[in-house]
Amino acid sequence: MRVLKFGGTSVKSPEVINKVIGIVKSRMKKEKVVVVVSAFGGVTDELLNLSRVAASGDRSYRNDLEKLELRHLQAVRDLVKVADQSRVLANTKVMLNALDDVLHGIYLVRELSIKTQDFILSFGERLSSYIISEALKNAGVNAACADATSLIRTANDYGNATVDFNTTNRLIRKHFKNEKSLQVVPGFIASTKDGHISTLGRGGSDYTAAILAAALKVSELEIWTDVDGIMTADPRKVAKAFPVPRLSYEETMELSHFGAKVVYPPSIQPVMDLGIPFRILNTFNPDVPGTLVSKETSSTEVGIKGISSIDDVSLLTLHGSGMIGVAGVSMRLFGALARHKVSVIMISQASSEHSINFAVRPSDTATACEAIEEEFRNEMTLGHIEAVRVEEGMSIVAVVGENMRRIPGVAGKLFSSLGRNGINIHAIAQGSFELNISLAVGKRDISKALNVIHEGFFLSHMKTLNLFIVGTGTVGGTLLEQIRSQSAYLLENHHLELRVVGLTNTRKMIFDKEGVALGEWSEVLSKNGKKADFQKFMERMYACNLRNSVLVDCTSNETVASVYEQALDQSISVVTPNKIACSSAYAKYKALKRTAALRGARFLFETNVGAGLPVVSTLNDLIRSGDKIHKIEAVLSGTLNYLFNTVGPKSSLSKTVKVAREMGYAEPDPRIDLYGTDVARKILILARESGAELEVKDVKVDHFLPAQVRKAKDVDGFFKELEGYDKEFEEKRSALEKRKCKWRYVATYEKGKAVLALKEYTSDHPFYHIDGSDNIVLFTTSRYASQPLVVKGAGAGAAVTAAGVLADIVRVSV
Ligand code: ADP
Ligand code: ASP
Ligand code: MG
Repeated sequence: MRVLKFGGTSVKSPEVINKVIGIVKSRMKKEKVVVVVSAFGGVTDELLNLSRVAASGDRSYRNDLEKLELRHLQAVRDLVKVADQSRVLANTKVMLNALDDVLHGIYLVRELSIKTQDFILSFGERLSSYIISEALKNAGVNAACADATSLIRTANDYGNATVDFNTTNRLIRKHFKNEKSLQVVPGFIASTKDGHISTLGRGGSDYTAAILAAALKVSELEIWTDVDGIMTADPRKVAKAFPVPRLSYEETMELSHFGAKVVYPPSIQPVMDLGIPFRILNTFNPDVPGTLVSKETSSTEVGIKGISSIDDVSLLTLHGSGMIGVAGVSMRLFGALARHKVSVIMISQASSEHSINFAVRPSDTATACEAIEEEFRNEMTLGHIEAVRVEEGMSIVAVVGENMRRIPGVAGKLFSSLGRNGINIHAIAQGSFELNISLAVGKRDISKALNVIHEGFFLSHMKTLNLFIVGTGTVGGTLLEQIRSQSAYLLENHHLELRVVGLTNTRKMIFDKEGVALGEWSEVLSKNGKKADFQKFMERMYACNLRNSVLVDCTSNETVASVYEQALDQSISVVTPNKIACSSAYAKYKALKRTAALRGARFLFETNVGAGLPVVSTLNDLIRSGDKIHKIEAVLSGTLNYLFNTVGPKSSLSKTVKVAREMGYAEPDPRIDLYGTDVARKILILARESGAELEVKDVKVDHFLPAQVRKAKDVDGFFKELEGYDKEFEEKRSALEKRKCKWRYVATYEKGKAVLALKEYTSDHPFYHIDGSDNIVLFTTSRYASQPLVVKGAGAGAAVTAAGVLADIVRVSV
């Protein structure tokens, strides 16, 4: 024999009820079956609402009651053939009239006891079971609606009544002994010793099914719902959750206790006691195997089986010096709470016994505080125990798995993944069986925490980065295109998903948690974007509170650079080609590094020097692997290389600078390039990365332009002066040519000092052979002592810079 339970989600409409009929019929071919049904989806909530509105004296409950009546009558018309309809409609109407009467009574007396509430709620299951039994008959099944109130007996308590198993088991066995027809049993409802209707608590149809399964000692219980089984996490909160094939009773109990609504926790006990396996199956996808729950669990590599959460709790702390070493404090604490019917969801105690933390439902907070203050009044008056500390707006996350105890490092992984994402843990509890680790976190962080943990354990081969990109100019625009074109490759080969969640330029900004469509980002941004406001952009990024967030600054703007520290402080990684932050005051640079390390975020700026060339990362790798940097020599200005390679008898210095500016090689104000300002910043960054505490003013600049030229006040004046210098420059240059040498503007860092100077090289030096916008860096180190390590290649341009930024973004994920 087998019990099949169909939840509200599986009987929410006549269309779905037809699927249920198909499933029942197929099961009946194999063995005897008992069916348990919930109220039609949403009906219990509606009944609760109706009765509350009626009790408040508000007549509007009648409108909703009418809708509820129509829904049931329509279901009869859809499921029962015309010949039988009038009988079934009449019986349904009798029940609906009784419901109407009792609601009217409540409306008149404006009083709603919990006992009456149970009576009202019972109509949901009474109506659904009757209609479904008639629908089954209509489909040719010899079915009958059972009366649950004569099968399940409870104490005289309501709302969440206590089952009297002795009587219940006896009644059930007697009823089913000679029963030939398929019994459709309404879930959730029972009757008290005194013969009144009681209910088994919200979600209680699962319990009814388990009670029947245990009383009848069936071979298996099937719980049919709207998901493919018990999932690794609540699918409404973790989009990437997936079904778990096998769980033990204990694992299921822990998951459901901590909020996995898919099974009502008390249901597990009766079947667990007898070792009856049960399966969670999907009415909408009946061929998937679902989740099998039994004595055995299955082992998984990751050690954990699922994550669940209770979103709203209060965390209470009892603390005080008077608690240390005093026996019986916890007994008195939890005794007092139990007497006041406060159920404790989670407890954690520091080994010093100085404080006890515990979580309760928000509605129990006040009662809990009163109960504790009453119990410990004396100690509190004497100052041995402090007043109860209450933290509201908290959530609990529980990580569950029987094999956790066999796999080392589960807790480490859990805490480090939360830490890296800036999630603060307020309390921790670990069951002594190591079946469960529970954590209290702020409610604001719950969705992030669930997703971080889920990704860390179940999708460790798969990672999502949430990008917030500022700037859509040449570098930003190219980066967006590269992300788009690389996304399939990154997903397949690096299991990395890049989502551009926020995007802004100076005109518009846009947010999309699913990721902006990169094929048409420009249209989407201009059409759907809001007016840009950088401050709001940042606020929104913080409010999104997404895991693995990365701020990507593709501007050369100072305001943008000024927010890095705050972002890093929120555990948001920063990737930037913008040199401003790293070349500003040393204290600022250091603070950024420190904050990143403290918050577990990455601060990556490879493209600050030599665009996409691996200059900063090579330097870091050398230092990390224990090498000592003796000297860095670098040619880091593409503009100056172009000048020195192009100037000649036919192209004067001033003319070549103008051409470079027109071609976009040189800055609009070419003095920035020609005075070495840009190169100074780059060598400063390399010096700092090598451990030097330098400021930009400490970089010694040997100018190759005479003071006369450098005196110019503006760009026009500068060009004028430059023209005056053209002749002298050409003389020097042709002398250089005769010597078979080439000029390079070289940045050197050695013995703690950084210097820029124009130097000449013969063809046997690597600096001689550089073309176009190439950069070259020589690292002379302990390891590379006689022959320096050379990094050389294109050191400017949107494509290589964007590629370097993308490489840094990918680096954040590892
Ligand atoms: P029914 O009406 O069939 O009893 P419920 O709504 O009570 O269905 O429970 C099923 C729902 O539980 C699913 O639709 C899902 O949204 C939710 N749920 C929460 N946590 C989990 C989980 N870990 N696995 C599966 N479902 C879950
Ligand atoms: N109908 C009840 C509820 O919604 C019982 C159940 O569906 O399990 O809580
Ligand atoms: Mg349910």
